[in-house]
Amino acid sequence: MRRIRPVALILPGIIIYLNAFSLGFYAHKKINRMAVYGVPAPLAGFYKRNIEYITIHAVDPDKKKFIDSAEGPHHFINIDHYGSHPFDVLPKYWKDAAKRYSEDTLNKYGTLPWEVIYWENKLTDAFKKKDLNTILRASANIGHYVADAHVPLHTVANYNGQLTGQEGIHALWESAISEAFGDTYQHINGGAVYLKDPAATIWNILKQTYSLVPIVLIKEKEVSTHFTKSEKYLPSKNNKIRYTPAYIAAYNRALNGMVEKQLRSSAVDVSNFWYTAWVNAGQPDVSKLRDKH
Ligand SMILES: [Zn+2]
Repeated sequence: MRRIRPVALILPGIIIYLNAFSLGFYAHKKINRMAVYGVPAPLAGFYKRNIEYITIHAVDPDKKKFIDSAEGPHHFINIDHYGSHPFDVLPKYWKDAAKRYSEDTLNKYGTLPWEVIYWENKLTDAFKKKDLNTILRASANIGHYVADAHVPLHTVANYNGQLTGQEGIHALWESAISEAFGDTYQHINGGAVYLKDPAATIWNILKQTYSLVPIVLIKEKEVSTHFTKSEKYLPSKNNKIRYTPAYIAAYNRALNGMVEKQLRSSAVDVSNFWYTAWVNAGQPDVSKLRDKH
């Protein structure tokens, strides 16, 4: 699948991508790193040897947004655009979806699930060909997009609380909390499972993520009532809304571990996608592939 139209507003001198936010750099790197530890033997050794590449390149898709205007839509899908039973009507595969809604519409409202499916196929092919560079790039990318699919605000039009008077909530949920508490998150160990239908899996992930949106918004409203403006916000920097550590901690408590749970699920799912691609490629021996480092 290739997309045609960038989802961007071009203002004098700057380009603002609609809903082009993404999980913070810290969280993306952490998720890819954690996922390496979810891969079972005999594939584990390969990923462990390449853990630095997989970690560093976890954020490449976000960097790409700055140079490629078609990249923005890959990071989200506004599920709420597709009616009250979106998961019953949205086709699993790009071709069917494009036929039903047009490529323009899909690009406008986000293409995240199809991007995961695209890279899963690419990774499977790369394993078949034992193409090290593509294996690594596809693995890092899958890590990125699968992680984005675990962020509730990547699934709705109200992606930054801008429709409910909660501007700034996007980075609060996906960056501030994990940056403050990520080092305490438990690691995962082995246990990746084979996905019979990876395309169905990404849609199930999105269904679960989307179901969390009301809690994400309601809890922030609730917590907000206990804070004055100066207790809630730090002075903004580079036009970015910043929250006080006390507010970040209070919101995290109100979410009852949701951010950690989503991050850990991301890592587990990423290793499942990697492992599945390798199995579907016929379990090639990758132990002798020359490492990048
Ligand atoms: Zn992203």
